[in-house]
Amino acid sequence: MRQIIIIGSGPAGFTAAIYAARANLKPLLIASSVEAGGELMNTTEVENYPGFPDGIQGPELMSKMQEQAERFGTEVVYDDVTELELSGDTKTITLGSGEKHEALSVIFATGSAYRKLGLDDEERLSGRGVSWCATCDGFFFKEKTIAVIGGGDSAMEEATFLTRFASKVYVVHRKDTLRASKIMQERAFANPKIEFLWNSQVVGITGTDAVDGLVLRNTVSGDETLLPLGGIFVAIGNDPRTHLVHTKLDLTPEGTIAVAGRSSKTSQTGVFAAGDVIDPTYRQAVTAAASGTVAALDAEHYLASLPENLLASAGEPALA
Ligand code: NDP
Repeated sequence: MRQIIIIGSGPAGFTAAIYAARANLKPLLIASSVEAGGELMNTTEVENYPGFPDGIQGPELMSKMQEQAERFGTEVVYDDVTELELSGDTKTITLGSGEKHEALSVIFATGSAYRKLGLDDEERLSGRGVSWCATCDGFFFKEKTIAVIGGGDSAMEEATFLTRFASKVYVVHRKDTLRASKIMQERAFANPKIEFLWNSQVVGITGTDAVDGLVLRNTVSGDETLLPLGGIFVAIGNDPRTHLVHTKLDLTPEGTIAVAGRSSKTSQTGVFAAGDVIDPTYRQAVTAAASGTVAALDAEHYLASLPENLLASAGEPALA
């Protein structure tokens, strides 16, 4: 049995691992089998992570965080958690391989997943012109006319990045003002390849084998129009990844895992949560990293409060 298992390999998970490993808790970190590294793996330049004045590529930042966590003794497993038993002193985690791991404490840092428009055609044409990741798929849209859906920072970032490939990028937004930060808006407004379509809701995606158009409804007039194009990128935000715990841990009305005050303590003793999965508001790499720190310190204090016989069953002392 372990003292601590961390589920999730974004900034929250790896920062929790750095702290837990430095406290000699010998953490096991479970990174996903296909999405290890979290959201930053799909980002290009990260310009607002402190310490990198010239910016850093998202995947490089994640690989540095992993290197730092491993340097202090974190063990990383690339697999998906399929089942969790979180009640009682011993927590059991089952992986896709069938392997089971036990620990006295768990940090849940599973982040969030791309939100979908909820249209039938979106699923049908997924990978055939419908994408959620410009850095993954942008290359396939060379010299095409495409659309990015959304009005937040993600949509601005995707649209700006996609102008490297596409001949024209429409930004389709359901309102007439953007949610994105000023600097990201200004960058998009200044880009001659980007055109904004305001008050426009996507009600259909057309195409038999591949996307060939969007059906847009004007939210003011109610009129519907067909916009011919060769691809769409959905950038309408993310939802916290809580499917493994939604019957096991209390959630907030926003759907994030509920934690006590400014701590990372969930409704289950010995289970802590950090990063986007608890944060409906800020959702930055640096806030996730800070949140991972809080979780590791909370877990460390929890372990230190456990009786000796329990700690002995986990092999290592709670504190170095
Ligand atoms: P946001 O929640 O900020 O924005 C989502 C956008 O999508 C909103 O404009 C929203 O519209 C729109 N939207 C939501 N649901 C639908 C729907 N069903 N149909 C049509 N439009 C929809 O998400 P982001 O992913 O953009 O950003 C999340 C966080 O990550 C933010 O804190 C952001 O600052 C941060 N971020 C920072 C970046 C950076 O600094 N480099 C890059 C990317 C993200 P409406 O406005 O009408 O609600």
